[in-house]
Amino acid sequence: MFYIIMIMLFLIFIALFYFVVEKQKKQVKECSKLLAELNSLNEIYKNKFLILQDVYKFKNECSSLQKYKNNCNNDMIFSFMCNQLRGYENIWKKLCSDALYNRKIYQNYINYLKYIKIKNLGLSYEEVPHEFLFMSKNRYLKIEEKLFFDMQLRPVIDLKVVLTVYYISPAGRNRYFSDFSMNEKYIEAVLNKIEENKRFEQSAKYQRQLMTNSKRYDILRRDNFRCQICGRSQSDGVKLEVDHIIPVSKGGKTVDSNLRTLCHECNQGKKDKYEQ
Ligand SMILES: [Zn+2]
Repeated sequence: MFYIIMIMLFLIFIALFYFVVEKQKKQVKECSKLLAELNSLNEIYKNKFLILQDVYKFKNECSSLQKYKNNCNNDMIFSFMCNQLRGYENIWKKLCSDALYNRKIYQNYINYLKYIKIKNLGLSYEEVPHEFLFMSKNRYLKIEEKLFFDMQLRPVIDLKVVLTVYYISPAGRNRYFSDFSMNEKYIEAVLNKIEENKRFEQSAKYQRQLMTNSKRYDILRRDNFRCQICGRSQSDGVKLEVDHIIPVSKGGKTVDSNLRTLCHECNQGKKDKYEQ
């Protein structure tokens, strides 16, 4: 019985304590010029900030422990991100510039905060009838300071990206997770690399790399192993070659529509024409 009464009293005490604290906060909010100015400042600034997520998440699920280990390597992470962001470069460029923009606006906001704080802190305490406030000046200042901190806007001003590389064994018994955090600088490096890759893919060197034996065979078969100019085949004693209709050196691509089968003679004839 004694314990029950003690617990009851304790709970009542706690409830009373919170009631008083909440009441004091409410009073400070109503009286404080500083908080009133903060509210008007927030009204102006809350729509200025661009919306960014706290963190942008990517996942890389691996099909084996070995792949998981390989994919946790820095170079692999970088190229994984290049693949993920490719095709979305404009979106990511915008996210980077939005973060930069938010940082600028936030710096202005911070400057205003400093200004209104110096101008107003504690000032309103002197102007409120003291019997109305059930608290000391120190208490008032403490609550005002705390509310001033809590009520400030905190927009996202940095781009944060996290890649989770993971592997779960077939029975689910073993789970491996690694998180890799990336900042704006990292994302910008990824975007630059994507641009560089694209330029390379436009290059003659890359187009020649695409001309593999397998590709060559596909084209020969498509053209029924016959020269597309004179119609002869290997059984007529000619050597067949695969030709870029628009030459690679003139910007031609290694794609089916730009490839055809020619015999060595016809191909040579074409080359002579081009070189004149
Ligand atoms: Zn021919």
